[in-house]
Amino acid sequence: SIPLGFFGGIGAASKNGVLVKGSNYLEGLNNVKYVVFDKTGTLTKGAFKVKAIVSASDWNQEHILLYAAYAETYSSHPIALSIKEAYGFDLDEHRITDYNEISGHGIQVTFENSSVLAGNEKLMQSEEISFVKPTEVGTIVHVAINHKYAGYIVIADEVKDDSATAIRSLKQMGVKKIIMLTGDNKAVGEAIGRSLEVDEVHAELLPQHKVEELEKLDAKKLPKEKIIFVGDGINDTPVLARADIGVAMGGLGSDAAIEAADIVIMTDEPSKLAAAMQVAKKTRNIVW
Ligand code: ADP
Ligand code: MG
Repeated sequence: SIPLGFFGGIGAASKNGVLVKGSNYLEGLNNVKYVVFDKTGTLTKGAFKVKAIVSASDWNQEHILLYAAYAETYSSHPIALSIKEAYGFDLDEHRITDYNEISGHGIQVTFENSSVLAGNEKLMQSEEISFVKPTEVGTIVHVAINHKYAGYIVIADEVKDDSATAIRSLKQMGVKKIIMLTGDNKAVGEAIGRSLEVDEVHAELLPQHKVEELEKLDAKKLPKEKIIFVGDGINDTPVLARADIGVAMGGLGSDAAIEAADIVIMTDEPSKLAAAMQVAKKTRNIVW
């Protein structure tokens, strides 16, 4: 039978904006030793803004932005939204045929009579297109038109005001290691990791690589120690499912993520995780 105190604990957590989907997860919060955060939309706002457009071809900046915006026509990725916002005009879907969103890489599309690629270094490498190495620190979207490199777009996201507090509180509560995983580039990942005093950063990961990182950690930890993964769920549902406790950020998260998660933070504040751990601790003291 489930001790009554757990229901009180789940209720207290929900008043704090944290939905816990079972008393076992609430109890599990008492043994959390590793907290793994996804970057985009979890520790950062996921509100990207285009900062610069750099041409490396005969195509001018306006053309590069136009092609990139059309490539992103059907994508709801935060990167895609920022490019479409910078472009600023309505998109005529009839100009697009053959649309492919390649998870963790970018987009391949046919725009009128041109083939367009918009995405990261991995996308350029897999298509064997040589690209310019940007000097700017930011999320970079490389653009190739008809298989020739055109240039790149520099996009910046911002760390959430709440993220530093969240990480500090978790460390105070006895979490051994805070890890950040991201599909974004190393320069961005390391800069954000340093500013938030995250213990480990793994960048340039595909969604399946994030699952592998959890598996490696799982093999190293003591049996009783729990691993939490916190993500917004865009491309990350398998990672949520693989963690001992999967936490979705409900504020920005996708429906699939909320479904796959064991705990849902109903706001966009990662510090709610530490608050839920406090509730779990009090609940244990009442129950046992
Ligand atoms: P994160 O791990 O930061 O949440 P994702 O796994 O969602 O990031 O994406 C990883 C990387 O794949 C992005 O940083 C970007 O380089 C590239 N990417 C994904 N989707 C798109 C898109 N729609 N347009 C351009 N690039 C994309
Ligand atoms: Mg993500």
